[in-house]
Amino acid sequence: LRNDTGLEAPMTRSAAAFLREQRVVPGGSMRHASWFAPHPPYAARGEGCWIIDLDGRRILDCANNFFSLAHGHAFPPIVAALTDAIAKGTAFGVPMEAEIALAETLRARNPRLEQTRFCNSGTEAVMAAIKGARGVTGRHRIAKFEGCYHGSYDHAEVSLESRPEEWDDAAGNPASIAYAKGTPPAVLADTVVLPYADADRCAAILKREGPSLAAIILDPQASKAGMVPMPAAVIAAVQQACARDGIMLIVDEVVNFRLGFGGVSPLFGLEPDFVTLGKIIGGGLPVGAVSGPAARMAVYNHAAGKPKVALGGTFSANPLTMAAGLASLAHYDEAAVARLNGLGEMLRQRVNAGLAAAGLPGRMAGAGSLFRLHPGARKIEDYRSARPLPAEAEALPRIHAAMLGAGILLTPNCSGALSTPMGEEQVVLIADTLIKATIAEFQA
Ligand code: PLP
Repeated sequence: LRNDTGLEAPMTRSAAAFLREQRVVPGGSMRHASWFAPHPPYAARGEGCWIIDLDGRRILDCANNFFSLAHGHAFPPIVAALTDAIAKGTAFGVPMEAEIALAETLRARNPRLEQTRFCNSGTEAVMAAIKGARGVTGRHRIAKFEGCYHGSYDHAEVSLESRPEEWDDAAGNPASIAYAKGTPPAVLADTVVLPYADADRCAAILKREGPSLAAIILDPQASKAGMVPMPAAVIAAVQQACARDGIMLIVDEVVNFRLGFGGVSPLFGLEPDFVTLGKIIGGGLPVGAVSGPAARMAVYNHAAGKPKVALGGTFSANPLTMAAGLASLAHYDEAAVARLNGLGEMLRQRVNAGLAAAGLPGRMAGAGSLFRLHPGARKIEDYRSARPLPAEAEALPRIHAAMLGAGILLTPNCSGALSTPMGEEQVVLIADTLIKATIAEFQA
Protein backbone atom coordinates (compact mmCIF):
# COMPACT_ATOMS: atom_id res chain seq x y z
CA LEU A 1 0.00 0.00 0.00
CA ARG A 2 1.31 3.45 -0.86
CA ASN A 3 -0.76 6.55 -0.27
CA ASP A 4 -0.24 10.23 -0.97
CA THR A 5 2.17 10.57 1.97
CA GLY A 6 4.57 8.33 0.05
CA LEU A 7 4.78 5.96 3.03
CA GLU A 8 4.58 2.27 2.38
CA ALA A 9 2.70 -0.14 4.58
CA PRO A 10 2.12 -3.88 4.47
CA MET A 11 -1.17 -5.05 2.95
CA THR A 12 -2.98 -5.89 6.16
CA ARG A 13 -6.72 -6.06 6.56
CA SER A 14 -6.64 -2.51 8.00
CA ALA A 15 -4.71 -1.37 4.92
CA ALA A 16 -7.27 -2.99 2.64
CA ALA A 17 -10.08 -1.31 4.56
CA PHE A 18 -8.31 2.04 4.15
CA LEU A 19 -8.03 1.53 0.38
CA ARG A 20 -11.72 0.69 0.29
CA GLU A 21 -12.65 3.70 2.43
CA GLN A 22 -10.65 6.13 0.27
CA ARG A 23 -13.00 5.38 -2.62
CA VAL A 24 -16.13 6.47 -0.78
CA VAL A 25 -14.92 8.86 1.92
CA PRO A 26 -12.80 11.97 1.24
CA GLY A 27 -9.27 11.36 2.53
CA GLY A 28 -10.30 7.86 3.55
CA SER A 29 -11.27 9.04 7.02
CA MET A 30 -14.43 10.27 8.67
CA ARG A 31 -12.51 12.62 10.99
CA HIS A 32 -9.22 14.27 10.12
CA ALA A 33 -8.18 14.07 13.76
CA SER A 34 -8.27 10.28 13.70
CA TRP A 35 -6.18 9.93 10.56
CA PHE A 36 -2.42 9.43 10.52
CA ALA A 37 0.02 8.05 7.97
CA PRO A 38 0.06 5.56 6.44
CA HIS A 39 -3.41 4.70 7.85
CA PRO A 40 -4.91 4.07 11.27
CA PRO A 41 -5.68 0.56 12.46
CA TYR A 42 -9.33 -0.35 11.83
CA ALA A 43 -11.12 -1.49 14.96
CA ALA A 44 -12.96 -4.80 14.90
CA ARG A 45 -14.04 -4.52 18.51
CA GLY A 46 -13.00 -3.25 21.93
CA GLU A 47 -12.47 -4.94 25.25
CA GLY A 48 -11.67 -2.89 28.36
CA CYS A 49 -8.59 -0.81 27.63
CA TRP A 50 -7.88 -2.71 24.42
CA ILE A 51 -8.85 -2.25 20.79
CA ILE A 52 -8.70 -5.45 18.74
CA ASP A 53 -8.07 -4.46 15.14
CA LEU A 54 -9.11 -6.18 11.92
CA ASP A 55 -5.83 -8.07 11.90
CA GLY A 56 -6.40 -9.38 15.42
CA ARG A 57 -3.78 -7.11 17.06
CA ARG A 58 -4.49 -6.05 20.61
CA ILE A 59 -3.75 -2.34 20.95
CA LEU A 60 -3.69 -0.56 24.31
CA ASP A 61 -6.05 2.37 23.72
CA CYS A 62 -4.89 5.67 25.18
CA ALA A 63 -6.85 7.73 22.66
CA ASN A 64 -10.15 6.52 24.10
CA ASN A 65 -12.24 8.04 21.32
CA PHE A 66 -10.81 11.53 21.80
CA PHE A 67 -10.82 11.12 25.60
CA SER A 68 -14.55 10.41 25.70
CA LEU A 69 -14.34 6.94 27.26
CA ALA A 70 -13.76 6.91 31.01
CA HIS A 71 -14.16 3.13 31.17
CA GLY A 72 -12.61 1.97 27.91
CA HIS A 73 -14.59 -0.32 25.63
CA ALA A 74 -17.62 -2.53 26.23
CA PHE A 75 -17.59 -1.71 29.97
CA PRO A 76 -19.99 -4.36 31.36
CA PRO A 77 -22.25 -1.94 33.36
CA ILE A 78 -22.66 0.25 30.26
CA VAL A 79 -23.33 -2.77 28.06
CA ALA A 80 -25.97 -3.96 30.56
CA ALA A 81 -27.61 -0.52 30.76
CA LEU A 82 -27.70 -0.25 26.96
CA THR A 83 -29.03 -3.76 26.53
CA ASP A 84 -31.86 -2.97 28.91
CA ALA A 85 -32.59 0.41 27.29
CA ILE A 86 -32.43 -0.71 23.67
CA ALA A 87 -35.11 -3.34 24.16
CA LYS A 88 -37.48 -0.58 25.24
CA GLY A 89 -37.07 1.57 22.13
CA THR A 90 -34.41 3.96 20.92
CA ALA A 91 -36.05 7.35 20.42
CA PHE A 92 -39.18 9.01 21.68
CA GLY A 93 -40.54 12.44 20.96
CA VAL A 94 -41.68 12.56 24.58
CA PRO A 95 -39.47 12.80 27.67
CA MET A 96 -38.15 9.86 29.69
CA GLU A 97 -37.13 9.59 33.34
CA ALA A 98 -33.54 8.77 32.39
CA GLU A 99 -32.92 12.34 31.23
CA ILE A 100 -34.07 13.66 34.62
CA ALA A 101 -31.77 11.20 36.36
CA LEU A 102 -28.72 12.24 34.32
CA ALA A 103 -29.42 15.94 34.89
CA GLU A 104 -29.85 15.20 38.63
CA THR A 105 -26.58 13.27 38.63
CA LEU A 106 -24.73 16.28 37.21
CA ARG A 107 -26.30 18.59 39.79
CA ALA A 108 -25.39 16.24 42.62
CA ARG A 109 -21.75 16.33 41.47
CA ASN A 110 -21.59 20.13 41.18
CA PRO A 111 -24.49 22.31 42.42
CA ARG A 112 -23.52 24.90 39.82
CA LEU A 113 -24.85 22.43 37.21
CA GLU A 114 -28.32 23.19 38.55
CA GLN A 115 -30.17 22.73 35.27
CA THR A 116 -29.13 20.99 32.06
CA ARG A 117 -30.19 20.62 28.45
CA PHE A 118 -28.74 17.66 26.56
CA CYS A 119 -27.74 17.68 22.90
CA ASN A 120 -25.67 15.40 20.70
CA SER A 121 -22.12 16.71 20.69
CA GLY A 122 -19.73 19.03 22.46
CA THR A 123 -19.80 21.28 19.41
CA GLU A 124 -23.55 21.64 19.74
CA ALA A 125 -23.20 22.34 23.46
CA VAL A 126 -20.71 25.15 22.78
CA MET A 127 -22.99 26.60 20.10
CA ALA A 128 -25.96 26.42 22.48
CA ALA A 129 -24.04 28.08 25.33
CA ILE A 130 -22.88 30.91 23.05
CA LYS A 131 -26.46 31.39 21.85
CA GLY A 132 -27.63 31.32 25.47
CA ALA A 133 -25.10 34.00 26.43
CA ARG A 134 -26.28 36.10 23.50
CA GLY A 135 -29.87 35.66 24.65
CA VAL A 136 -29.05 36.76 28.20
CA THR A 137 -26.94 39.79 27.24
CA GLY A 138 -28.51 40.92 23.98
CA ARG A 139 -24.96 41.14 22.55
CA HIS A 140 -23.43 38.88 19.92
CA ARG A 141 -19.62 39.08 20.10
CA ILE A 142 -17.57 36.53 22.04
CA ALA A 143 -14.00 36.16 23.29
CA LYS A 144 -11.98 32.94 23.23
CA PHE A 145 -8.39 31.97 23.89
CA GLU A 146 -5.86 31.47 21.12
CA GLY A 147 -5.25 27.88 20.05
CA CYS A 148 -8.08 26.46 22.16
CA TYR A 149 -10.41 23.88 20.67
CA HIS A 150 -14.11 24.10 21.43
CA GLY A 151 -15.52 22.00 18.58
CA SER A 152 -16.29 22.97 15.02
CA TYR A 153 -18.75 25.83 15.49
CA ASP A 154 -17.61 28.86 13.42
CA HIS A 155 -16.91 31.32 16.25
CA ALA A 156 -15.35 28.66 18.46
CA GLU A 157 -12.88 27.71 15.70
CA VAL A 158 -11.32 31.16 15.31
CA SER A 159 -7.51 31.16 15.79
CA LEU A 160 -7.51 27.48 16.53
CA GLU A 161 -4.37 26.86 14.52
CA SER A 162 -2.99 30.27 13.65
CA ARG A 163 0.62 30.28 12.50
CA PRO A 164 3.46 32.52 13.71
CA GLU A 165 3.18 34.83 10.69
CA GLU A 166 -0.53 35.37 11.54
CA TRP A 167 -0.20 35.72 15.30
CA ASP A 168 -0.49 39.41 16.05
CA ASP A 169 -2.91 42.08 14.89
CA ALA A 170 -1.93 45.72 14.32
CA ALA A 171 -2.18 46.40 18.05
CA GLY A 172 0.09 43.46 18.91
CA ASN A 173 -2.70 41.27 20.33
CA PRO A 174 -3.60 37.75 19.13
CA ALA A 175 -5.25 38.13 15.72
CA SER A 176 -8.62 36.61 14.80
CA ILE A 177 -7.64 34.09 12.14
CA ALA A 178 -10.02 31.87 10.19
CA TYR A 179 -9.48 28.16 10.76
CA ALA A 180 -11.54 27.02 7.79
CA LYS A 181 -11.83 28.34 4.29
CA GLY A 182 -15.09 30.19 3.76
CA THR A 183 -15.30 31.59 7.29
CA PRO A 184 -17.52 34.69 7.01
CA PRO A 185 -15.56 37.89 7.83
CA ALA A 186 -18.29 38.78 10.33
CA VAL A 187 -17.32 35.72 12.39
CA LEU A 188 -13.77 37.04 12.71
CA ALA A 189 -14.95 40.55 13.53
CA ASP A 190 -17.23 39.14 16.22
CA THR A 191 -14.60 36.90 17.86
CA VAL A 192 -11.98 38.48 20.10
CA VAL A 193 -8.90 36.33 20.70
CA LEU A 194 -7.13 36.32 24.07
CA PRO A 195 -3.64 35.10 25.06
CA TYR A 196 -3.72 32.04 27.36
CA ALA A 197 -0.85 33.04 29.62
CA ASP A 198 -0.62 36.86 29.61
CA ALA A 199 -2.89 38.37 32.26
CA ASP A 200 -1.98 42.01 31.59
CA ARG A 201 -2.68 41.70 27.90
CA CYS A 202 -5.95 39.86 28.62
CA ALA A 203 -7.05 42.59 30.99
CA ALA A 204 -6.20 45.31 28.46
CA ILE A 205 -8.06 43.58 25.61
CA LEU A 206 -11.07 42.91 27.81
CA LYS A 207 -11.13 46.51 29.06
CA ARG A 208 -11.49 47.64 25.47
CA GLU A 209 -13.79 44.90 24.13
CA GLY A 210 -15.71 43.88 27.29
CA PRO A 211 -18.81 46.06 26.88
CA SER A 212 -19.56 44.47 23.49
CA LEU A 213 -19.05 40.84 24.57
CA ALA A 214 -21.81 38.32 25.20
CA ALA A 215 -19.45 35.62 26.43
CA ILE A 216 -15.91 34.60 27.21
CA ILE A 217 -15.36 30.88 26.65
CA LEU A 218 -12.43 29.15 28.28
CA ASP A 219 -11.07 25.71 29.04
CA PRO A 220 -8.69 26.07 32.00
CA GLN A 221 -6.53 23.08 31.02
CA ALA A 222 -6.80 23.25 27.24
CA SER A 223 -5.02 20.45 25.43
CA LYS A 224 -4.08 22.45 22.31
CA ALA A 225 -2.65 25.15 24.56
CA GLY A 226 -0.20 22.55 25.87
CA MET A 227 -2.43 20.81 28.41
CA VAL A 228 -1.05 23.17 31.05
CA PRO A 229 -3.23 25.08 33.52
CA MET A 230 -4.42 28.56 32.64
CA PRO A 231 -2.62 30.95 35.04
CA ALA A 232 -4.70 32.15 38.01
CA ALA A 233 -4.01 35.78 37.04
CA VAL A 234 -5.56 35.22 33.61
CA ILE A 235 -8.62 33.62 35.18
CA ALA A 236 -8.86 36.59 37.56
CA ALA A 237 -8.70 39.03 34.62
CA VAL A 238 -11.56 37.14 32.95
CA GLN A 239 -13.64 37.08 36.14
CA GLN A 240 -13.10 40.80 36.67
CA ALA A 241 -14.19 41.61 33.13
CA CYS A 242 -17.27 39.40 33.43
CA ALA A 243 -18.31 41.09 36.68
CA ARG A 244 -17.59 44.58 35.40
CA ASP A 245 -19.20 44.32 31.96
CA GLY A 246 -21.95 41.72 32.51
CA ILE A 247 -20.25 39.15 30.24
CA MET A 248 -21.33 35.50 30.52
CA LEU A 249 -18.53 33.10 31.47
CA ILE A 250 -18.72 29.80 29.58
CA VAL A 251 -16.43 27.05 30.87
CA ASP A 252 -15.88 24.30 28.34
CA GLU A 253 -15.67 21.05 30.30
CA VAL A 254 -16.30 18.76 27.34
CA VAL A 255 -12.93 17.07 27.92
CA ASN A 256 -11.93 18.20 31.37
CA PHE A 257 -15.05 17.24 33.28
CA ARG A 258 -13.15 13.98 33.82
CA LEU A 259 -10.50 15.77 35.94
CA GLY A 260 -12.68 16.03 39.05
CA PHE A 261 -15.80 14.43 40.52
CA GLY A 262 -17.63 17.75 40.04
CA GLY A 263 -15.79 18.56 36.84
CA VAL A 264 -12.99 21.04 36.30
CA SER A 265 -14.59 24.38 37.28
CA PRO A 266 -14.44 23.73 41.05
CA LEU A 267 -10.75 22.80 40.73
CA PHE A 268 -10.00 26.29 39.36
CA GLY A 269 -12.48 28.21 41.54
CA LEU A 270 -14.57 29.02 38.48
CA GLU A 271 -18.25 29.94 38.78
CA PRO A 272 -19.47 29.80 35.20
CA ASP A 273 -22.76 31.09 33.86
CA PHE A 274 -22.83 28.21 31.38
CA VAL A 275 -20.87 24.95 31.36
CA THR A 276 -20.51 22.87 28.23
CA LEU A 277 -20.26 19.12 28.66
CA GLY A 278 -19.85 16.05 26.45
CA LYS A 279 -17.63 12.98 26.07
CA ILE A 280 -17.62 10.91 29.31
CA ILE A 281 -21.09 12.02 30.42
CA GLY A 282 -22.49 9.99 27.50
CA GLY A 283 -20.72 6.74 28.35
CA GLY A 284 -19.40 6.33 24.80
CA LEU A 285 -22.51 7.44 22.93
CA PRO A 286 -22.90 10.77 21.11
CA VAL A 287 -23.59 13.50 23.69
CA GLY A 288 -23.34 17.13 24.59
CA ALA A 289 -24.94 19.26 27.29
CA VAL A 290 -25.22 22.85 28.34
CA SER A 291 -25.65 23.33 32.04
CA GLY A 292 -25.63 26.09 34.62
CA PRO A 293 -27.52 27.97 37.31
CA ALA A 294 -31.31 28.01 36.81
CA ALA A 295 -31.30 31.80 36.45
CA ARG A 296 -29.07 31.48 33.37
CA MET A 297 -30.65 28.32 31.96
CA ALA A 298 -34.02 30.17 31.98
CA VAL A 299 -32.94 31.60 28.65
CA TYR A 300 -33.89 28.24 27.08
CA ASN A 301 -37.19 27.96 28.97
CA HIS A 302 -40.02 27.61 26.50
CA ALA A 303 -42.67 26.81 29.12
CA ALA A 304 -43.65 30.45 29.64
CA GLY A 305 -44.12 30.95 25.91
CA LYS A 306 -41.44 31.62 23.36
CA PRO A 307 -37.95 30.93 24.76
CA LYS A 308 -35.35 33.65 24.25
CA VAL A 309 -33.09 31.05 22.65
CA ALA A 310 -34.26 27.97 20.79
CA LEU A 311 -32.46 24.75 21.65
CA GLY A 312 -33.93 21.71 19.96
CA GLY A 313 -32.62 18.46 18.52
CA THR A 314 -34.47 15.40 17.24
CA PHE A 315 -32.14 13.05 19.12
CA SER A 316 -31.37 15.24 22.15
CA ALA A 317 -31.44 13.30 25.45
CA ASN A 318 -31.61 10.08 23.49
CA PRO A 319 -32.53 7.22 25.86
CA LEU A 320 -29.48 5.14 24.90
CA THR A 321 -27.14 8.03 25.60
CA MET A 322 -28.88 8.75 28.89
CA ALA A 323 -28.61 5.08 29.96
CA ALA A 324 -24.93 4.85 29.02
CA GLY A 325 -24.18 8.21 30.63
CA LEU A 326 -25.82 7.20 33.91
CA ALA A 327 -23.80 3.98 34.03
CA SER A 328 -20.60 5.80 33.08
CA LEU A 329 -20.93 8.40 35.84
CA ALA A 330 -22.18 5.91 38.46
CA HIS A 331 -18.86 4.10 38.08
CA TYR A 332 -16.85 7.30 37.91
CA ASP A 333 -17.35 8.14 41.56
CA GLU A 334 -14.92 10.04 43.80
CA ALA A 335 -12.81 6.94 44.40
CA ALA A 336 -12.59 6.08 40.69
CA VAL A 337 -11.66 9.67 39.78
CA ALA A 338 -8.96 9.73 42.48
CA ARG A 339 -7.57 6.35 41.42
CA LEU A 340 -7.40 7.30 37.73
CA ASN A 341 -5.88 10.71 38.50
CA GLY A 342 -3.28 8.93 40.65
CA LEU A 343 -2.38 6.68 37.73
CA GLY A 344 -2.03 9.78 35.54
CA GLU A 345 0.32 11.36 38.08
CA MET A 346 2.37 8.16 38.20
CA LEU A 347 2.61 8.14 34.39
CA ARG A 348 3.76 11.75 34.15
CA GLN A 349 6.32 11.31 36.93
CA ARG A 350 7.73 8.11 35.44
CA VAL A 351 8.02 9.57 31.94
CA ASN A 352 9.55 12.82 33.18
CA ALA A 353 12.04 10.99 35.39
CA GLY A 354 12.94 8.65 32.52
CA LEU A 355 13.48 11.50 30.04
CA ALA A 356 15.55 13.45 32.56
CA ALA A 357 17.67 10.38 33.36
CA ALA A 358 18.36 9.95 29.64
CA GLY A 359 19.37 13.62 29.40
CA LEU A 360 16.50 14.39 27.04
CA PRO A 361 14.78 17.77 26.93
CA GLY A 362 11.14 16.59 26.62
CA ARG A 363 8.46 16.76 29.28
CA MET A 364 5.07 15.21 29.79
CA ALA A 365 2.34 17.73 30.65
CA GLY A 366 -1.27 17.10 31.61
CA ALA A 367 -3.46 16.70 34.66
CA GLY A 368 -5.52 13.92 36.18
CA SER A 369 -5.92 11.12 33.66
CA LEU A 370 -4.85 13.25 30.67
CA PHE A 371 -1.31 13.54 29.35
CA ARG A 372 0.62 15.08 26.49
CA LEU A 373 4.26 14.73 25.47
CA HIS A 374 6.22 17.88 24.62
CA PRO A 375 9.50 16.90 22.99
CA GLY A 376 11.16 20.34 23.32
CA ALA A 377 13.16 21.96 26.14
CA ARG A 378 11.31 25.29 26.34
CA LYS A 379 8.72 26.17 28.96
CA ILE A 380 5.23 25.31 27.74
CA GLU A 381 2.67 27.87 28.84
CA ASP A 382 0.27 28.49 25.95
CA TYR A 383 -0.60 27.61 22.35
CA ARG A 384 2.44 29.43 20.96
CA SER A 385 4.99 27.67 23.13
CA ALA A 386 3.17 24.33 22.79
CA ARG A 387 3.08 24.49 19.00
CA PRO A 388 5.70 21.96 17.84
CA LEU A 389 8.79 23.46 16.18
CA PRO A 390 9.46 22.05 12.68
CA ALA A 391 11.83 19.31 13.97
CA GLU A 392 9.31 18.36 16.67
CA ALA A 393 6.49 18.29 14.14
CA GLU A 394 8.52 15.61 12.35
CA ALA A 395 9.50 13.74 15.52
CA LEU A 396 6.00 13.44 17.02
CA PRO A 397 4.52 11.31 14.20
CA ARG A 398 7.55 9.02 14.42
CA ILE A 399 7.13 8.64 18.19
CA HIS A 400 3.41 8.05 17.62
CA ALA A 401 4.19 5.39 15.01
CA ALA A 402 6.77 3.71 17.28
CA MET A 403 4.18 3.56 20.07
CA LEU A 404 1.62 2.03 17.74
CA GLY A 405 4.24 -0.39 16.48
CA ALA A 406 4.66 -1.45 20.12
CA GLY A 407 0.88 -1.82 20.44
CA ILE A 408 -0.09 1.47 22.14
CA LEU A 409 -2.42 3.99 20.52
CA LEU A 410 -1.95 7.68 21.37
CA THR A 411 -3.55 10.62 19.60
CA PRO A 412 -1.43 11.85 16.67
CA ASN A 413 0.12 14.65 18.78
CA CYS A 414 1.20 12.09 21.39
CA SER A 415 -1.38 12.86 24.01
CA GLY A 416 -3.75 10.45 25.68
CA ALA A 417 -6.30 9.64 28.36
CA LEU A 418 -6.28 6.74 30.80
CA SER A 419 -9.40 4.64 31.39
CA THR A 420 -10.61 2.82 34.51
CA PRO A 421 -9.82 -0.71 33.23
CA MET A 422 -6.14 0.32 33.30
CA GLY A 423 -3.89 -0.28 36.28
CA GLU A 424 -0.26 0.26 37.23
CA GLU A 425 0.83 -2.47 34.82
CA GLN A 426 -0.53 -0.53 31.85
CA VAL A 427 0.87 2.77 33.16
CA VAL A 428 4.37 1.27 33.41
CA LEU A 429 4.01 -0.16 29.91
CA ILE A 430 2.91 3.18 28.43
CA ALA A 431 5.63 5.14 30.27
CA ASP A 432 8.50 2.78 29.47
CA THR A 433 7.50 2.38 25.84
CA LEU A 434 7.20 6.15 25.46
CA ILE A 435 10.59 6.77 27.07
CA LYS A 436 12.17 4.17 24.77
CA ALA A 437 10.50 5.63 21.68
CA THR A 438 11.57 9.16 22.61
CA ILE A 439 15.16 8.12 23.31
CA ALA A 440 15.28 6.27 19.98
CA GLU A 441 13.93 9.34 18.17
CA PHE A 442 16.51 11.68 19.70
CA GLN A 443 19.40 9.29 19.18
CA ALA A 444 18.48 8.73 15.52
N1 PLP B 1 -14.75 21.27 23.49
C1 PLP B 1 -13.59 20.64 23.72
C2 PLP B 1 -12.67 21.15 24.79
C3 PLP B 1 -13.25 19.51 22.97
O1 PLP B 1 -12.07 18.90 23.14
C4 PLP B 1 -14.17 19.03 22.00
C5 PLP B 1 -13.87 17.82 21.21
O2 PLP B 1 -12.80 17.27 21.25
C6 PLP B 1 -15.36 19.73 21.81
C7 PLP B 1 -15.63 20.83 22.57
C8 PLP B 1 -16.34 19.29 20.76
O3 PLP B 1 -16.95 18.10 21.12
P1 PLP B 1 -17.55 17.12 20.00
O4 PLP B 1 -16.39 16.50 19.29
O5 PLP B 1 -18.38 16.16 20.77
O6 PLP B 1 -18.37 17.98 19.09
